[in-house]
Order: sequence, then C-alpha cells, then structure tokens
Amino acid sequence: MVELVAGVDRVPEIFVVEHDGVRCMEQRGDGACIALDPLTRLCTIYENRPQTCRNFERGGELCRRILAKTNRI
Ligand code: SF4
Repeated sequence: MVELVAGVDRVPEIFVVEHDGVRCMEQRGDGACIALDPLTRLCTIYENRPQTCRNFERGGELCRRILAKTNRI
C-alpha cells in the first residue's frame, strides 16, 4: 500500500482512502493500486505519482522480491 505524504503528494482524491488516519492510494480487490491500468499495466497518474512510487527502483531488489512473492516472475 502506498502511503501519501502530506503537502507533497497531490494525486486525484478519487484514488485516495484513509486507513487509521493515514492517507493512502486505494487498492483494487486484488491488491493492485487503483491508479494502475489493469490492461496496460501502466500508471494512469504517472506524472503525478506519489513520492513513494518515485523512490521505488523499478527492477531493483525490493521490486524483484515483491514480484517473486506474487509469482509474477
Ligand atoms: S506508480 Fe502509479 S500505479 Fe504504481 S503504485 Fe504508484 S500510483 Fe499506483
């Protein structure tokens, strides 16, 4: 789940949900981020994606561990 940083992240409110007082990106039933296009697998708000997403290294160690856990590699 992607937590949003107050005063930094400016994503459409329709994609935001609050958990225990923390603003986060909403998730679909399968756990995917609500902003992820299920067909193209691309971020629909890429230019305005949260800082957490900007910091995430695509193909990096954490990325590979998550993909392995979800059997996507
Ligand atoms: S990059 Fe886009 S689709 Fe991926 S988690 Fe961040 S906001 Fe969601």
